[in-house]
Amino acid sequence: ESAFSSLKPIPYDEAFRLMKAIAEDTNPQKVSLGAGVYQDESGKFWTLPSVKKAIPLLPDHHEYLPQGGFAPFVEASRRLLFGEDLSARLDSRLTSIQTVSGTGACHVGTVFLIKSVKPQNVWISDPSWINHALIWECADPGVTRKFYPYYDAATRSFDFAGTVAALEGGAQKGDVIVLQACAHNPTGLDPPKEQWAAIADICEKKGLIPFFDTAYQGFASGDVDEDAWAVRHFAERGSLEVCVAQSFSKNFSLYGERVGAFHVLSRDPATKPAVQSQLVRIIRSEVSTSPAFGARIVATVLDDPMLRGEWHDDLKTMSSRIKSMREALLRELKRRGTPGSWDHIVSQIGMFSYTGLNKEQVKELAEEHHIYLMASGRASIPGLTPENVTRVAEAIDSVVR
Ligand code: PMP
Repeated sequence: ESAFSSLKPIPYDEAFRLMKAIAEDTNPQKVSLGAGVYQDESGKFWTLPSVKKAIPLLPDHHEYLPQGGFAPFVEASRRLLFGEDLSARLDSRLTSIQTVSGTGACHVGTVFLIKSVKPQNVWISDPSWINHALIWECADPGVTRKFYPYYDAATRSFDFAGTVAALEGGAQKGDVIVLQACAHNPTGLDPPKEQWAAIADICEKKGLIPFFDTAYQGFASGDVDEDAWAVRHFAERGSLEVCVAQSFSKNFSLYGERVGAFHVLSRDPATKPAVQSQLVRIIRSEVSTSPAFGARIVATVLDDPMLRGEWHDDLKTMSSRIKSMREALLRELKRRGTPGSWDHIVSQIGMFSYTGLNKEQVKELAEEHHIYLMASGRASIPGLTPENVTRVAEAIDSVVR
């Protein structure tokens, strides 16, 4: 008899189960297309050269950061997100705070919105990064999680009409809509600009609160401004109140250092002191202060013109390697005349490809070929290398025939 006797075991998250299965596979030819972590062309973790240069410049002490975070980092993160001009223009209405990575930013933002706006519903894309729904569910099961259809399987494209219909039909004033700023996880499909603008129109018309999650700025296209377009468009309108959870895991390859920020754009500058103090209180209750190491690295790189330039080169290196692996996989499939159409592999953007492979095919890839991806058919493209891409294409060819 224990105080915990009534607890039931909960299945582990698929991503973690997959990582375990891969670790336990002793076949030297195994290929991991599971975890969303960038690897270089030899399949190794890549520490960015710009980050390597910043580390020796860091101070040799390990004090607590203030509760709002490392100020130069918070400033730099907002300039990166909104751009120099816009972030200066928004300053009186914009509140920013350091968080424990993108996940922590999503959580702080969710708790903040639950306390302040008390939304009836939160709208999450179907499918989405699994943590969006989980964070809302754990923070307040009373907020109804609703899902807008994001993926049109027939055309392998963003389901704009379905999204519009869901929001027009069901969203209520004060509801939150979670949007991924670029390189949507897991589909790799983003709305084109005119569709973003139409979604912003709906948010305005219905009084919804857009809550952006940006985990791939610069990593997706190689261009930090291009990848921030949607966030900036919503913020520039002036009429919308916008939240943004920002992660530096991918674009700085600082996954384990947990670097992130959360931003709130209010319509009314008078609310800024209240917003700031509420955010600090949430941070206080969750972690007291955020981790210093990664935030200092990011601030050092972004504030030094030379290092920042090198970081832009690093973003190009990562994004172009991913693009070239997409092209190589498509080329290999076409060469084999693999049944079906595969052009989506190159039109999708960012870390992932939603391949269209079904559960059985994914299972067969793991069991027969030691190639691992999510059951949804989501493949993490950086797991491909010039060395393994032919083998992966051969295996895909054999499971779809
Ligand atoms: N949002 C999305 C869409 C993601 O894909 C990720 C990383 N998988 C994150 C947020 C957060 O990652 P982290 O907590 O490592 O910053």
